This record gives sequence, structure tokens and C-alpha cells, in this order.
Amino acid sequence: MAAEGRGGEAYGEAVIYRADGPSAAARQGAVACLIRSVGGADYRLPHTGQTDYANDAPKIPAGAVTAEDADLIADLVRQGPVRMKLVLTPQTLPDVESANVIGDIKGSEHPEQVIVVSGHLDSWDLGTGAIDDGAGVVVSMEVANLIQKLHLKPKRTIRVIAWMNEENGLAGSKQYAKDQEKEWMNHFAAMETDGGADHPLGINIKAKPEVKKTFAPVAAILQGSGAGMLNLVEHCGADIGPMEKAGVPAFSAIQDSRFYFNYHHTAADTLDKIVPKELAENSAVVAVAAYALANMEQPLPR
Ligand SMILES: [Zn+2]
Repeated sequence: MAAEGRGGEAYGEAVIYRADGPSAAARQGAVACLIRSVGGADYRLPHTGQTDYANDAPKIPAGAVTAEDADLIADLVRQGPVRMKLVLTPQTLPDVESANVIGDIKGSEHPEQVIVVSGHLDSWDLGTGAIDDGAGVVVSMEVANLIQKLHLKPKRTIRVIAWMNEENGLAGSKQYAKDQEKEWMNHFAAMETDGGADHPLGINIKAKPEVKKTFAPVAAILQGSGAGMLNLVEHCGADIGPMEKAGVPAFSAIQDSRFYFNYHHTAADTLDKIVPKELAENSAVVAVAAYALANMEQPLPR
């Protein structure tokens, strides 16, 4: 699936085994649970990520093994009983205070109406979080930079948000929702980049289907750089989820996802995986979309 360009869907199908596997195994009497890494990584890299414990099952230790080691273990099990000793070191420490980072370019005509452009600051710490989600933060900051550099005057406010704590509970997103939920009608649209920095192909739209038609002139501009696709989707980003739920039209770049899950949540999520030209292409696509939203004549249907 990832090779077909449907990396996100492939991950969606695989990730439930990591999220729900330990409780499912515990209900069958397991004392611990090892999950085959759910990304596409080889080079014997384990892939980490969120795991949920259900209330109706014992909370057993759980970890991810590399695809290579999972194959080896499966092979050994076919030959007879296998004994394993697990040494798992992760711990959940008490919460500490942290923050979303937010910056506005005030709208010239409707400053109270906001287009959110965002990525998330935190990352899993076995890599450096370059593609997940340093890229999304840089893309969003560069949107503001491009608009300033081009001396554009957006009519609505463009709000860049670097979210805190996407990976481990969405605390930044939840706090923003708490602080802003009375302002959702003034949130004109929300965007998030959280799929790395590979070549953008177009724009995902989570909104009423007619928004796709409204966006056709924007797609025509982006077509020249190979990013003219428009897809109606169910979900555009985890941190903007509360806004999506409240009916705020949501958008994200459609990104080439063939290789993202080979590095995401592994020790190989490092800056060398980012191709500067493709990172710039992502900024351009999000900037064009955000500026178009900021200057749209009519409000979008909800
Ligand atoms: Zn992410």
C-alpha cells in the first residue's frame, strides 16, 4: 500500500495492532506483548508509538521489535517453545508545564477571523523528529515568512501554531480547544502538516464537498508545480481534530507518503531525510492555500 502512495492508510491499518495489541493479548492471558514494528523500516530499526491500555485487561509490558526480529521469532516459534527475557526501560514521568507556540499575521479586513497553519513541536525521542514533525513546524513558519517576504496583506489573520504534545496525548491541541472553543465560528479554516516533507501532490480537504469546487482555482495555480490534486478526506491532522469536529473546514497538503513510514518514529528520523527542495515545495503549497483562504470572498460552508 505504501508503495502505491497510500502510506497513511497502510499505517492506519497496521497501527491498531500496536495501539490495541497489548490489551488484546492480556485478555488471552499473555504476560507481555511484543509487536512487529508497524512502519516500513528495515535496517533492523524498531518503530515506536502510542499504545493504549484498555480498562478491562491487565496492563502488561509491551514493546516493538524490528520486522527482521519479528520474522526470526516467528520462525523459532514454529520450531518449538521460545523463552524470552524482556528488559524494557521506558517510564511515564509526571507532567511538566509546556506550551504551544503561536504567532499571528493580523488580517487587514477581518482580523478576528483566523486561518490556522500548524505542525507539532514534540517527537518520539529515539530519532530527532526531523520528519515528524520538525518539517511541519518549519513548513508552517515558512508560510508566515513567505507572506511577509512577498509583502502580501492577508485579509484574515494567519495564525502559525507549533503544537505541543501531539504524540503523547494531544495536550496542546486540547488546551487550545478549551481556550478557543467559543471562537470556533471565527476559525475560518485550519491546516496541519504532519506527514514529513516529501513532494506535495495537492491538498486534502475535510469540509463540505462543495468546498472542492471553491478550491479549483487554487488547484489550478498549484498544478504547475505538480500539486494540483484535490482530495476530500475524513481527517486532516491530529492537532486540528477538535476544530474538525466543530465543523471548521480543514486542509492539509497531500504528501508523497511512500517513504515517510520507513523513518517515522524510528532512530532514523533525522534531518538528512529532508530534501530541502521538497520541504520548500510543501511550504509553497501550504502558503498558497492559506493565503487563498485568508482572502476568500465568501465564507466556506459548514
Ligand atoms: Zn506527527
